[in-house]
Amino acid sequence: MGLLKGKTAVVTGSTSGIGLACARAFAGAGANILLNGIGAPADVDKERAAIERDFAVKAIYSPADMANPSEIAELIALAEKTFGSVDVLVNNAGIQHVSAIEEFPIEKWDAVIAINLSAAFHAIRAAVPGMKNRGWGRIISTASAHSLVASPFKSAYVAAKHGIAGLTKTVALELARSKITCNCISPGYVWTPLVEKQIPNTMSARRMRRDEVINDVFLAAQPTKEFVTVEQVASLALFLCSDNAAQITGANLSMDGGWTAA
Ligand code: NAD
Repeated sequence: MGLLKGKTAVVTGSTSGIGLACARAFAGAGANILLNGIGAPADVDKERAAIERDFAVKAIYSPADMANPSEIAELIALAEKTFGSVDVLVNNAGIQHVSAIEEFPIEKWDAVIAINLSAAFHAIRAAVPGMKNRGWGRIISTASAHSLVASPFKSAYVAAKHGIAGLTKTVALELARSKITCNCISPGYVWTPLVEKQIPNTMSARRMRRDEVINDVFLAAQPTKEFVTVEQVASLALFLCSDNAAQITGANLSMDGGWTAA
């Protein structure tokens, strides 16, 4: 408790899943929160109000589209204007598209690269001057096991997540003397809407039952045969904000049930 008291955390893609869990974990540590993502206004406001109520912090929402560089810059400016700083930035918004390379729709490639990779560049670029001025910052990106290994039919996602790993290392080196760390977390399969949405299509494409899709497709690569939880990812993100993590920078931290050890 209190680790982030008086600080501000911006979490992109925080209307559900990993991002929402990170926002709630940071709020639990005392940070004011900027939420972002796509969602019905009433649902988003319910999550925003719950953060304020549960943790006695301030929470605001920006609908900025992470595919749009100027909206990303405005999102960072909104947090700075409202709260006075952006101390923690989590680049988390992400989408998936699955297709053979020769049929991969060009607009889907562009969207995955924009939201899963370029958005992190634009947000970091906008947030770093303020972090440098205050002499402290934590930049965390949600990468993936797919930042380390590939799977067929996920060319844009794998390219974007490998890009996040490279961006993380470069930014960490540039900021190494500024008391700003930059790391990424690489989960294996985490039970979130992003994964849940893939179940019906996979069931019909592979003529499998729901339990077969979960065990024989999603968890096939994960030696523990268990999903990572959003709370586990959020608790690692919170640890990266602590003083004990001050010397962790440029790291790509796996949380994948052993997937990339195999
Ligand atoms: P999710 O679908 O619950 O969350 C994705 C978030 O991104 C949502 O808030 C959504 O509204 C937001 N988003 C999507 N497009 C956006 C846009 N154009 N502008 C702003 N926000 C946008 O899924 P999740 O699993 O929590 O995914 C979060 C991150 O974790 C993603 O980067 C994903 O690639 C990564 N990840 C997920 C898994 C997994 O198994 N779930 C594994 C590894 C990495």
